[in-house]
Amino acid sequence: MKKECEIVQDLIFGYCDGTLNPASKDLVEKHLVKCEECKKIYEEIKKDKQIEDDDKIEIDYLKRVNKKLKRKKIMIVISSVLIILLVILHIFAFICYYHDHTTIEIFMNKDISEEGIENIKNQIKTQSEDIEITYVSAEEQLEKMKQRFKDNQDLLAGYNAENNIFTPSFIIKTKTIQDMEKVEKSLEDVEGIKLISSTSSNLYESLIMNIFTILYNSH
Ligand SMILES: [Zn+2]
Repeated sequence: MKKECEIVQDLIFGYCDGTLNPASKDLVEKHLVKCEECKKIYEEIKKDKQIEDDDKIEIDYLKRVNKKLKRKKIMIVISSVLIILLVILHIFAFICYYHDHTTIEIFMNKDISEEGIENIKNQIKTQSEDIEITYVSAEEQLEKMKQRFKDNQDLLAGYNAENNIFTPSFIIKTKTIQDMEKVEKSLEDVEGIKLISSTSSNLYESLIMNIFTILYNSH
């Protein structure tokens, strides 16, 4: 009996794992029925194994939950960043839009008289009290453009006060888009104006145009 107990106790782990061959399994089962001592050892091992398995299941579960939480956190971070970028982009778009629609340049005819210039200035002034008017003479305009294209000296090199291709202009800034619309409307039939550089762009066109301008100027 003692000898069989030794054999069975050697086999018991394999029996619990289910890795024994049928003959060994049969031997263990038959012995356990008749030997209290070996049966006790078997029960003990079975209980430990059960606890071990339960722990493993619990750890696996915790790992899965952790993974899910991590994924959720990453998604929250990504969407927060996207939302913030979108908000910044829209704020920038609104600023561009506002600027585009409250600033215009009015180019006058080359041969306009002092009186004609004064007339246009007065016409603009009467539209609202909050209008900023800057007069830029043809000479100043030429200098300004030369400054702007100073990396491309050749472009305007041959031009001076005598053969100036630029015309006198007004730069108009208003506080509101409505004021600017009033100014533009009031100048529709005024003589001596060659071109009004108003923007009819919408929010996103403004944004794109301004981004291009910034990229071009930083070049
Ligand atoms: Zn035994």
